[in-house]
Amino acid sequence: MTTATQVPFVDLRAQYEQIRTDVDRAMRQVIDRGDFIHGSAVARFESDFAAYIGVSHAIGVGNGGDAIELALRAFDVGPGDEVITAANTFIATVLAISATGARPVLVDMDRESYTIDPAAIGAAVTPRTRAIVPVHLYGQPADIEAVLAVASRHNLVVIEDAAQAHGARVSGRRAGAFGHAAAFSFYPSKNLGAYGDAGIVVTNDGRAAEKLRLLGNYGQRVKYEHAVEGRNSRLDTMQAAVLAVKLPHLDRWNAARRAHAETYRARLLRRVHTPATRSGVEHVFHLYVIETEQRDRLREKLSERGVHTGIHYPVPVHLQDAYASLGYRTGAFPATEAAAKRMLSLPMYAELTEEQIDYVCSAINV
Ligand SMILES: *Cc1c(COP(=O)(O)O)cnc(C)c1O
Repeated sequence: MTTATQVPFVDLRAQYEQIRTDVDRAMRQVIDRGDFIHGSAVARFESDFAAYIGVSHAIGVGNGGDAIELALRAFDVGPGDEVITAANTFIATVLAISATGARPVLVDMDRESYTIDPAAIGAAVTPRTRAIVPVHLYGQPADIEAVLAVASRHNLVVIEDAAQAHGARVSGRRAGAFGHAAAFSFYPSKNLGAYGDAGIVVTNDGRAAEKLRLLGNYGQRVKYEHAVEGRNSRLDTMQAAVLAVKLPHLDRWNAARRAHAETYRARLLRRVHTPATRSGVEHVFHLYVIETEQRDRLREKLSERGVHTGIHYPVPVHLQDAYASLGYRTGAFPATEAAAKRMLSLPMYAELTEEQIDYVCSAINV
């Protein structure tokens, strides 16, 4: 039986309706100017985004995965190095690490926050460890102060994967302003999403910023003079124009997500496990992840009522065939594996209505 969609998982159209005039004008201006590659909208958005995060440099790239990989390469991470990250993440984090030639070393998550367990990082450090990639997962910053403490003890580079945490804060500072650099994705359904692929790296390190500009543009400082072995990974001008229109709305959209999360929590806490926000942290709820023993049955029931849900992530990275060569076995990361069987992501986006949230909660609570 198929049911008409009552509540989609995300609704990009609902957001576009609010900003259509500005987006259409900005896209038309790019076409009129014809500056499709490294056009003026790119420099403008880079400077807007750096100011928003509170860092000195932002370098647009083709997507979030490239942002992580090129940030690592800008700090000379490569073959022979080990890079520690969380087993509970989207696989792009780990693919970016292995793309540099470094070996990904996975560690378990903290069971409460779903983010990387800082104690497990310390235990995984070897003489080859060069970097840590903490992931601010589902919109909640990782325990970044603890991660930075481990890093400084072992002299490691920290590249934040902030692809799910645009605008999130820790003690008032934005996620992405803590590490040596941070990577953001603007995949369309992220909290700040483009109308195609896009990404950015932010950093306070001027030397790394300059290297990032080379790496994403064929390694050239001057046309046809190639200083390093770079490639083509640029922030598309059309996407930058869209993102510049959207950025001023981000805090309002994130506040709406937080309000929806609070409504979900109040309505659902007696029935399922609802997410906890670490103290001092401003969560931006990229995803609203509940846990329940009866996950698959609940998902089916919601689907029958036209409520679309997701699982993030059903098979942890260390148990994917793609990374069989890393040699991890079932049981390696108990917190990650236990959560993978119980987690369910409910519809979450700023434009969700009270009626839609009410419909989802009623469907769960029947
Ligand atoms: C989306 C995402 C990425 C990758 O971003 P793309 O733009 O799709 O390459 C990396 N890490 C995390 C945690 C993500 O959610």
